[in-house]
Amino acid sequence: MKDKISRRNFLKHSAGIGLGASFLGKFPYIITGRKKTYFQGPIIINSHGRRGGAEANKVGWEILSSGGSALDAVEKATNVVETNPEDTSVGYGGLPNYEGVVELDASVVDGKSYNMGAVGALRNIKTPCSVARLVMERTDHIFLVGEGALRFAKMHGFKEYNLLTEKARKIWLRWKEHLNDNDDYFPPADDDYGLKRPTGTINVLAIDKNGDIAGITSTSGLAFKVPGRVGDSPIIGAGLYVDNNVGAAGATGRGEEVIKVCGSFLVVENMRNGMSPQKACEDVCHRIINNYGGPQNVKFNDKFIAINKNGEIGCAAIRGRKERPPTVAVRDANGERTYKGKYIIEV
Ligand code: ASP
Repeated sequence: MKDKISRRNFLKHSAGIGLGASFLGKFPYIITGRKKTYFQGPIIINSHGRRGGAEANKVGWEILSSGGSALDAVEKATNVVETNPEDTSVGYGGLPNYEGVVELDASVVDGKSYNMGAVGALRNIKTPCSVARLVMERTDHIFLVGEGALRFAKMHGFKEYNLLTEKARKIWLRWKEHLNDNDDYFPPADDDYGLKRPTGTINVLAIDKNGDIAGITSTSGLAFKVPGRVGDSPIIGAGLYVDNNVGAAGATGRGEEVIKVCGSFLVVENMRNGMSPQKACEDVCHRIINNYGGPQNVKFNDKFIAINKNGEIGCAAIRGRKERPPTVAVRDANGERTYKGKYIIEV
């Protein structure tokens, strides 16, 4: 046992400790190489700017404001959204795969220890981010998927639930009935649901009183996906990235595109190289658009949110209506507010 613990500590806790946090408080932290900026105190942000993000932040802020860790704050804040049956993009109540089965993806990064955990295609568990945290803390691995992830969760006492709520089942059924004109399923005569595939995921990023940063991304993934499909959310560097000395970023939207550019990693690297969080997010959207040869070829959407070590925020999405900008829910000592980001392609 002793050997095991020292092995775990050696393997999982030796990399990142202490580099950033001890400099904070009064010491100026240089982000750009030119501009000196100062740590502003604890803060929590999430990507659900218009969809219950404030309720999640409230729970996270209670932890941060009483001296708790960024890691605890992002986990408990994410659990609020994961267990909310009304949210059809995350956790319990999330939209199912093609066959009507809910499969969840989640990842966590603890900037302080530079440890990470993730689960993919996890069925029957309401709070995948908490399972991801246990993968990080209680195994020597980073990523568990499918049946193995479920067994691991049950081993840790998580209860199994049917995650498909009536609301999500009906949305899935309508989609299925509209899918193919040549099969024998009919939508109700008055139905106008059509072939909509709603998107959504939550990214939660926080900085605690010590200046340590943590992040979580949790999702039910692309609605009606091929069973077994894993998106960007549980892939560290794609749907989430944290570097305790620089900042954190998370992505939502079409995961395949985010994976291709290592999106969240790239946002953090942009900040490391001197960009503001806002510019860093915009730049990655541009990168995706350019990879397709320009806006005329881009029919999907992706959104990035970011925070740097000083608590400055960024948010950009590929496309949307200017009058309804992409948003971030923000909570710090000044209260709850909404940060408005930018679309690269305004429609
Ligand atoms: N990024 C998620 C995925 O591709 C879906 C979303 O955010 O809408 O799984």
